[in-house]
Amino acid sequence: MKKQTKAIRTQAQKSQNREHSVPLYLTSSFAFESAEQGKALFEETEEGNIYSRFSNPNVTEFVDKVCMLENAEDGIATGTGMAAVFASMAGLLKSGDHLVACRALFGSAHQIITQILSKWGITHTYVDATASEAEWEAAMQPNTRMVYLETPSNPGLELVDLEMLSRLKKKYGFILNVDNCFATPILQTPIDFGADLSIHSATKFMDGQGRVLGGIVVGSKELIQPIRFFARHTGPSLSPFNAWILSKSLETLDLRMERHCRNALQLAEALDTHAEVERVLYPFLPSHPQYDLAKRQMSAGGAIVTIELEGGFERVKAFFDALTIPTLSSNLGDSRTIVTNPNTTTHAKLKPDEKAALGITPGLIRISVGLEAIEDLIEDFTQAVEKSAEVVKEKVA
Ligand SMILES: *Cc1c(COP(=O)(O)O)cnc(C)c1O
Repeated sequence: MKKQTKAIRTQAQKSQNREHSVPLYLTSSFAFESAEQGKALFEETEEGNIYSRFSNPNVTEFVDKVCMLENAEDGIATGTGMAAVFASMAGLLKSGDHLVACRALFGSAHQIITQILSKWGITHTYVDATASEAEWEAAMQPNTRMVYLETPSNPGLELVDLEMLSRLKKKYGFILNVDNCFATPILQTPIDFGADLSIHSATKFMDGQGRVLGGIVVGSKELIQPIRFFARHTGPSLSPFNAWILSKSLETLDLRMERHCRNALQLAEALDTHAEVERVLYPFLPSHPQYDLAKRQMSAGGAIVTIELEGGFERVKAFFDALTIPTLSSNLGDSRTIVTNPNTTTHAKLKPDEKAALGITPGLIRISVGLEAIEDLIEDFTQAVEKSAEVVKEKVA
């Protein structure tokens, strides 16, 4: 069966009530049928639910679907994307280990690496997303245990060549850990390119409607086992309610991503040819510096389009004032189009040299393209580009 079919048809076992839609197992614990069963479950000679911090039918259904979509053996769901990122590191790294990470990271991942892991003697080296194989290789140390990255990156939409890193992995024996949030398993399956772990903030496209937080990490049984141990005892569990929402949402992920990507490409093309737009970044635009890699590694360009407008924050303000459809929010991956100015919001805390290294300029705008009719989006963005250009010109004159 195709993945689209399995994402719809994978379901927790039906109860005696023969329900069609899976029920919500809002229970903290599960009863033992006998003293022997309690003993067997704790000895792990029998598989089953004990307590919802360890497992729950709704959470298991969600994990099973993501494993299927990612071609992964096993997985563990968490309450947020950041909990998944942290569990993957805390479960597998120890004092004295070295982590190589791509410089273009989600803000909180950068904080974990620089402010938290460092307290426990785990060191790191940053490498640019677009670095050559030799530059990645130069960052390796004898104690390098993990390489952590996001592709495409936020908000610069830089790609990391997964095949190249999995070649290096064979030589250096690190764990290749990929945050696959922007691409989703519909567009990119890192494990097929040799990655060991794939992580998601399920809060984004997996939910897809901006309702709940969630996270997941999937990979081989061998690597998930210590992450599960860490999560079971430290407790970053996904709520059954959120898992129920997320699992339902996976039924439409393929359909939604198809529309997200079609809208994003059309909007990117329309803005790319507009004289009042300085620059448009989108992996599936031929002008993207890594267009060939994007075509090799992803089946479509994703829902995020990043544009640069001339005129700094004044222009951004006028542009946001003129837009009528999109929401101003720092979130992404919603059915509704969202715009944000990374320089003053998501990436505001970075130092000027860090911003420069990531290409975060005052006029940069990240667009999370939603599912609205593309004609409406193109019309709204075009008029806002033109109106904001006029406002800035009037101010200068
Ligand atoms: C949002 C996001 C995260 C963090 O996820 P939360 O669910 O907000 O904790 C991690 N990585 C990427 C790429 C994200 O976009």
